[in-house]
Amino acid sequence: MNETLAPAQEPNCRFCGQVLEHTFVDLGMSPLCQTHIEPAGLNEMERFYPLHAYVCANCFLVQVDEFVSPDEIFSDYAYLSSYSDSWVEHARRYVEMISERLGLGASSHVVEIASNDGYLLQHFVAKGIPCLGVEPAANVAEIAKAKGIESEVCFFGEESAKRIASKHGKANLILGNNVLAHVPTLHDFVQGLKELLADGGTVTMEFPHLLKLMQLNQFDTIYHEHFSYLSLFVVEKVFASHGLTLYHVDELPTHGGSIRIYARHAEDESKPVTEAVEQLRAREFEAGLDQIETYSRFTEQVKETKRALLDFLIRANREGKTVVGYGAPGKGNTLLNYCWIRENFLAYTVDRNPLKQGRYTPGTRIPILAPEKIRETKPDYVLILPWNLKEEISKQHNYIAEWGGRFVVPIPEVEVL
Ligand SMILES: [Zn+2]
Repeated sequence: MNETLAPAQEPNCRFCGQVLEHTFVDLGMSPLCQTHIEPAGLNEMERFYPLHAYVCANCFLVQVDEFVSPDEIFSDYAYLSSYSDSWVEHARRYVEMISERLGLGASSHVVEIASNDGYLLQHFVAKGIPCLGVEPAANVAEIAKAKGIESEVCFFGEESAKRIASKHGKANLILGNNVLAHVPTLHDFVQGLKELLADGGTVTMEFPHLLKLMQLNQFDTIYHEHFSYLSLFVVEKVFASHGLTLYHVDELPTHGGSIRIYARHAEDESKPVTEAVEQLRAREFEAGLDQIETYSRFTEQVKETKRALLDFLIRANREGKTVVGYGAPGKGNTLLNYCWIRENFLAYTVDRNPLKQGRYTPGTRIPILAPEKIRETKPDYVLILPWNLKEEISKQHNYIAEWGGRFVVPIPEVEVL
């Protein structure tokens, strides 16, 4: 794309607009993490984009530039939430907790943004609480509709929020799991929340916590589809700029360490800001998230993880051991591309999602097979790419011990389980 050696133009912060001059980590060139290659596409070229995360020196939002429109990424998405048992269980527990906490019932209205295949809303349906899903991927929304979950196929923003509010009414609860980080137009999205939220209503959003990403070395959660990397104090500023106040926060173990924020209209004083908010914000400041130097140390940590993983793979390879992968998640693709791991190190990977089976990982072109392949080929090591699910996966496939097979996780550091 660059015809000359002049550096690419630095992008502007998607929250405050300042030019981004500080690198958080530069992971080189990478393809989109969800574009799994079909066999017929193996002779085609692939598009790679810079995977360069910046931190804004003004507001401290960590972000990657938008190279591809969300339309291109999410309109035909292969990720189905229901393929993770622990995620569906997480959703069920959330529905129990929030229904009780907010006193939701048959006269309430719940809207989930990025409702995927209905993995979560099905639990509201079962409780008789009216709900609506908003999901941009038509193929995924169809699956939810088949489960009896009313769904609007569109991207969420100010305009669609107004349309949904006039068609279905405002929402007492708006929720979004792993969506806030995936919107390039942050202002438009948060303004949409403001428009759709009923008086006295609550917004909850879950997203991976930047503090955990840094402390636990989770650089592989950086990919093009994931535009922002969020800390509590930055999200507070973003929401405040749209008349929304964060009044509570939960820390969660999901996705390697997430937070769930609870927001309300700024003028709704019936819900005081809890101590949990004050405490987590204080911990972020203690960790230096409001100082630019803190962010500049991350790159070296990432390089060391790459060296350690390659050390392990080269050693296994020299000893004649076979290593295969488990899973083909977005984070796996960042890891494999950045560490330059191809079929020479991972014979294949497996995934429960039939939409991915028979395809190849983007960029690295490692075949994605059905999980049964592991039992058939008896590998010495199985590298768990969605390391956040290591307990679930190693339990489901504990039979690899029958032939002396071992599970390995790459993050936070290479560990043979
Ligand atoms: Zn900024």
